[in-house]
Amino acid sequence: MTSVDAMVAALPKVSLHCHLIGSVAPATVLDLAAKHGVRLGRTAEELYDHGSYEDLGEFLRVLDVVGSLIRDADDFHRVAYESLTDGGAAHGVLYREIQLSPPGHPGVPYPTLLEGVLAGVRDAEADSDIRANLVVGICRERSGAEAVDLVETVAAHRKGTDGERVLGIGLDYAEVKGPPGLFVEAFRLAARHGLQRTAHSESGPPAHVLTLLDELGCSRVDHGYHVVDDPDITTRCVAEQVPFVCTPVSSDIGRYSGSGDGTHRRIAEMVDAGLRVCIDSDDPPMFGTDPSHDFRVLAQALGYRRDQLAAFTLNAVDACWLDDSEKAALRARVEALVAVTPDVPSAPSPEEGPR
Ligand SMILES: [Zn+2]
Repeated sequence: MTSVDAMVAALPKVSLHCHLIGSVAPATVLDLAAKHGVRLGRTAEELYDHGSYEDLGEFLRVLDVVGSLIRDADDFHRVAYESLTDGGAAHGVLYREIQLSPPGHPGVPYPTLLEGVLAGVRDAEADSDIRANLVVGICRERSGAEAVDLVETVAAHRKGTDGERVLGIGLDYAEVKGPPGLFVEAFRLAARHGLQRTAHSESGPPAHVLTLLDELGCSRVDHGYHVVDDPDITTRCVAEQVPFVCTPVSSDIGRYSGSGDGTHRRIAEMVDAGLRVCIDSDDPPMFGTDPSHDFRVLAQALGYRRDQLAAFTLNAVDACWLDDSEKAALRARVEALVAVTPDVPSAPSPEEGPR
């Protein structure tokens, strides 16, 4: 193990931008397909062909295939559990707000999804050091009226066993097909129900960030790389310390944060501008990454070391939707773990080749 590997593995992480469907391990995809009698016609590795995801549409088709294989409460239990243990706690993730996509599981009643995921969360919390809550994503490729219906459904199921673990809503899928302004009514309804709000902005113009903040009432932004194209909006976001939850590997492949060449140019610009950046891994196995690897690529490409990477985690503590006392406890855990994490020199060493 290189020194950078040891550092990124030991650093604590707080995960605010990881999708349940996107975190299903390849072997689990095969098991679920066999269980439900679905012929995939290709191996899981062929399915997770991240080289093809420069086209967002191709990636979303893969997401649809995997989402359609998660059907009953046992399936949701399994994928939530594995995502939090092997895909989370094993990489030092202390806390995650899992992004769910009910529209990505056609025909599955929302209570079935919720029951299975919550059971998986409870078992993962019992078996590892991770804690988790839930975010329900609105599919922006559907109508505003459908979004309102989903928010009503979410609000109606927040009571009962662990239902209050659904802390808020998100907005995902292709931004070009569903600009944020179409979802103002759904987001205002969510606010009235006491739900927190976040939304994706990966490819849209900087003005979309203003829509998220001023019209959707988002307390944080998923991706948001184009904010740096507008100095005035950047200045405002710095002044207000708006959190941006960036995902280096998936966004580099998708050409949102760089040029697909591993430079992560926009993330560097955001950090240099003084924006409050958090780091997560989006759809880890689908993009050939994991929570440690997203830290590793920034360490290698941008020279970030322990204190900068730890700052990403501390930013995520501030940006998460836990209450103040839970945040204080989480912050104390993060700081204690950072203090015993080995740092490495800034100068690249010969053994730190690309993974
Ligand atoms: Zn995402």
